[in-house]
Amino acid sequence: MIDLRSDTVTRPSAEMRRVMFEAPVGDDVWGDDPSVTHLEHYLAERTGKAAALFLPSGTQSNLVALLSHCQRGDEYLVDQQAHTYRLEGGGAAVLGGIQPQPLDGLNTGELPLAKLKAAIKPVDPHFARTRLLTLENTFHGQVLDADHVAQTTALAREQGLATHLDGARIGNAAAASGSSLEALCAPFDTVSICCSKGLGAPMGSVLVGPEAFIATATRWRKVVGGGLRQVGSMAAACEYALDHHLPQLIQDHEKAERLAAGLAAIDGITVTAQATNMVFVAFEDSAFAPEPLHAWLAEQGILVGALYAPRFVTHRDVSMADIDQVVAAFRDYFQRLTR
Ligand SMILES: *Cc1c(COP(=O)(O)O)cnc(C)c1O
Repeated sequence: MIDLRSDTVTRPSAEMRRVMFEAPVGDDVWGDDPSVTHLEHYLAERTGKAAALFLPSGTQSNLVALLSHCQRGDEYLVDQQAHTYRLEGGGAAVLGGIQPQPLDGLNTGELPLAKLKAAIKPVDPHFARTRLLTLENTFHGQVLDADHVAQTTALAREQGLATHLDGARIGNAAAASGSSLEALCAPFDTVSICCSKGLGAPMGSVLVGPEAFIATATRWRKVVGGGLRQVGSMAAACEYALDHHLPQLIQDHEKAERLAAGLAAIDGITVTAQATNMVFVAFEDSAFAPEPLHAWLAEQGILVGALYAPRFVTHRDVSMADIDQVVAAFRDYFQRLTR
């Protein structure tokens, strides 16, 4: 299968499986799992933060961050299109009584400064207490502009807000920008990082931040059921992924560029955007029906996401030859269509 639905589909490599098999384990709720503790120290160090916490998923990592930053009746400022607002089941509101204040962004993950400033509520019993700004990097594949990040986080700090980065794909941002993880994390109080996006680890996210924050987050992780026991083999997979697979992410970007170029040359397809490991397309014919194309691709072992909002994601488990095969499949299909 050539699976372009997401980079979450990457599988553990043979060497990663060996590392997982041999990883020392203990009860992590007791703080006894050496592989988890090692990963936490490793990533705290790499991101320049005081402490880190291993969690089962990125969604839980963001949720625990929101619960740790905000109290009931507090709010966080967030882009309308951000994962923490749109794609996490409203968890902060459901479980924390935390109100999101979604803002219309620039479709780049950037929030206009004036809009941000205007959204911060005065201290008054009528209003929720604005406590936190969250950004996302990469945002729909795009790397956040570093100057913009510096300006928005400075504004947040001036206004007494904490700052959180959803860095699920921060490795892609690092690969594309040449910046270190530490430099990308520096403007934020806390950052959530996924090890199962494009990196081959079966599960796991890490939340990094100040010591006292991580202590609070450890409590919330337990509350939401994320305290795990002998989970060291998963943590070892994550550390292996960060060490060995993260530096290779740039190759995923090259695959996305090749895919975008190939698709752009086909009559009937417009490539609307390509950034890091993502390609977005639109089909020019307004009567275009996605189902037969889906079926055609599936026949050739190619899996893609919903074709009403077509996004293709490249990753380490698709090769350049696979990309060429995908382009050829699209070309054949659209040639038959226009013939
Ligand atoms: C995937 C993703 C998450 C959540 O990670 P899960 O492991 O799927 O829970 C959070 N933020 C962004 C931007 C993501 O892409």
